[in-house]
Amino acid sequence: MTATQPLELLAPLSGVLLALDKVPDPVFSSRLIGDGLCIDPTSQTLCAPLAGVISNIQDSGHALSITADNGVQVLLHIGLDTVNLAGQGFTRRVQEGQRVEAGQALVEFDADYVALNARSLLTLMLVVSGEPFTVLATDLVQTGQPLMQLSPAPSAQALDEEAGDALFSKPVTLPNANGLHARPAGVFAQAAKGFTASIYLHKQTQSANAKSLVAIMALQTMQGDSLQVSAAGEDAEAAINVLAALLADGCGEAVTRTAEPVATVSSTTLLRGVCASPGSAFGQVVQVTEPELNIAETGAGEALERAALARGLRTATEALQAQAAGGVQADIFRAHQQLLEDPTLLDQAHGLLAEGKSAAFAWNRATVATAKLFQGSGNALLAERAADLADVGQRVLKLILGIADSAWDLPERAILIAEQLTPSQTAGLDTRKVLGFVTVGGGATSHVAILARALGLPAICGVSAQVLGLANGKQVLLDADKGELHLDPDLADIEQREAARQQQALRHQRDVAQAFLPATTRDGHHIEVTANVASLQEVEQSLSLGGEGVGLLRSEFLYLDRNRAPSPDEQAATYTAIARALGGERNLVVRTLDVGGDKPLAYVPMEAETNPFLGLRGIRLCLERPHLLREQFRAILASAGFARLHIMLPMVSLLSELHLARAMLEEEALALGLTELPKLGIMVEVPSAALMADVFAPHVDFFSIGTNDLTQYTLAMDRDHPRLASQADSFHPAVLRLIDATVKAAHAHGKWVGVCGALASEALAVPVLIGLGVDELSVSVPLIPSIKANVRERDLADCQLIARQVLGLEEAGQVREALRLYHAAAVETLPVVEH
Ligand code: PEP
Ligand code: MG
Repeated sequence: MTATQPLELLAPLSGVLLALDKVPDPVFSSRLIGDGLCIDPTSQTLCAPLAGVISNIQDSGHALSITADNGVQVLLHIGLDTVNLAGQGFTRRVQEGQRVEAGQALVEFDADYVALNARSLLTLMLVVSGEPFTVLATDLVQTGQPLMQLSPAPSAQALDEEAGDALFSKPVTLPNANGLHARPAGVFAQAAKGFTASIYLHKQTQSANAKSLVAIMALQTMQGDSLQVSAAGEDAEAAINVLAALLADGCGEAVTRTAEPVATVSSTTLLRGVCASPGSAFGQVVQVTEPELNIAETGAGEALERAALARGLRTATEALQAQAAGGVQADIFRAHQQLLEDPTLLDQAHGLLAEGKSAAFAWNRATVATAKLFQGSGNALLAERAADLADVGQRVLKLILGIADSAWDLPERAILIAEQLTPSQTAGLDTRKVLGFVTVGGGATSHVAILARALGLPAICGVSAQVLGLANGKQVLLDADKGELHLDPDLADIEQREAARQQQALRHQRDVAQAFLPATTRDGHHIEVTANVASLQEVEQSLSLGGEGVGLLRSEFLYLDRNRAPSPDEQAATYTAIARALGGERNLVVRTLDVGGDKPLAYVPMEAETNPFLGLRGIRLCLERPHLLREQFRAILASAGFARLHIMLPMVSLLSELHLARAMLEEEALALGLTELPKLGIMVEVPSAALMADVFAPHVDFFSIGTNDLTQYTLAMDRDHPRLASQADSFHPAVLRLIDATVKAAHAHGKWVGVCGALASEALAVPVLIGLGVDELSVSVPLIPSIKANVRERDLADCQLIARQVLGLEEAGQVREALRLYHAAAVETLPVVEH
């Protein structure tokens, strides 16, 4: 066969053919792993769709891939969530590395057992090497009938032959600390798909289809690799220029540019990462490593091993309960407890115990497999929860193996360096000795980052693995705000930063001491400062920091770690506990589920969408699934009477959405026998809601402006786009004008307006928001004292002046500059504060 000959793939099963979009699992329907087809099987033997070598087969037999001689790789995956069956119901007929013929039997499965015990029998056939294909069949298919026709990627030899026609970029030295892993590879493949040319990425003698995420990841690139892009076709030249520049820039990741030779191994003076928790610290390197654990596979008898697992789980649960009762971010440890009770995880471990495996082996295998599944889900939030599962997995494993979790013996002024810290390790850090930490893994939204912020510890993550080679005791400067670790810091620089840090700390101390003073401007105008929360624990923390209520309860975050929906009683108990904590005199604004966009929720499966931010998000999804909204309304209504209850609808763009939701709320309240409805308001986060605020105003009790989304929808810039981050700025006059329009319309109808987007938590924005007439600032919990102090330093009249001025500016940068100047002038006129 020559490289360009089409290749026919046979149906691996008999059954009903479905498009991938119909698969109720975003991992597959989003095509993250690869494009392909789905079959709802009527036969029970999975056969090879093409000849090749079994390049991978899961021990459990539910998934395998075949690689043909010309590089085409096809993944076959039987059922959804079948990994949890740990091999039960599957019989493998082939081994990894074995050559198979098209049509050969690969795996037999018990369709009844799988259908009863897994989420679905739907079976996927995905072309993970990325070749385009046409489908040759419709509806019903029989095993062995032609199903797809592919145009395979050219072989290495063919690439050489074609090279005459193709253009090649100059070699690019890969700057990414961890090579082209999923995220940068995804950015690169996405960019490549924007060109019609056929494009390849080359590493030495290997080549990958640049439009295939999996093919790029399979190249296993590393920092410092020399890569080239080739392209053949109409827009080849443009493709080469754009893609080579993208590679050199890190494909959306913060990188040390290789053009500036700061980061060679011997002469590195600076390592970069991503800010996980702000601040800076000067201290000494302390490398923390975890010992290797010795896990025997075979057990000493099922009963003994079952008892060992049960003991480990019980002791871990008790320890987690103690941590949740006293420590920071208790909800994280409660979530860990729930992971220990997860029935799929336990079933998997027990299945392995029944096969004679040891408790340690069974538990480890179950947690590692599930964590991998989370990681590969294509869902950023779930992927970060994989770290929690690994953490709680290790905790139990050590208990089973009888390994004491010795507290680290740390020197003073320690800057911890680790491959990855776990949430338990982070929560247990002695902040008298630890000044900050740096990790190779992790992300800015991980629980470790949340804990670091709660502890006030500066931290950066995603740093090159080079950091693991730094000598213990080396003096370094961690500038987490900039995401930098300085290995050879300048003394004057350190002193300057230290002075700034001390001033900041003193100011913070003063703000916390005065946190219970009202947020009233010097000329007597009161602003309500409330909290953005996602748990009861944050509500309690906000009250201890002078919070005047809850301006935004992000209800979708209450049950983030769940695979199943919480029961109605459980939901009602959560809202009631939060309302009780606030008491009858404070506002509680509960936002109904804002799922979709960047916030998938494991127990609300959704079909993949081309533009999720413009799709079924927030109130749109809830109106499509009214049972979800009605159930949530009932649970929220259970808390009526314990606090001043407000219900808020997210992502409203049409008046009809408000009317529909209000009608449902009224019906549910009536059914519960409530005579008084809670206040009902909407988030203003879509330009149409801001522009039509005068039309909405008679029908709502309040507005709360979500500047995060309002900015992305006003400027048409994805709020998570790595390359647009600096431009998608809520200080843009267009966003401020929409806030202005909303406030004017609301006040004309006697309704109040809050801002709950991140703009409200920005010190620089406080005067402009006061000046525009915003009544409430709902802010991130730790910032409550400083935002209240900020308000107390203002004059309403001055704020109105500066607000009018900035509305007339051209861009966000000018607004920020004007506000900085205003701030500096205002600070100069402030009375000197006694400490
Ligand atoms: C917003 O969009 O500003 C907002 C507060 O909602 P979220 O960030 O949860 O989308
Ligand atoms: Mg929003």
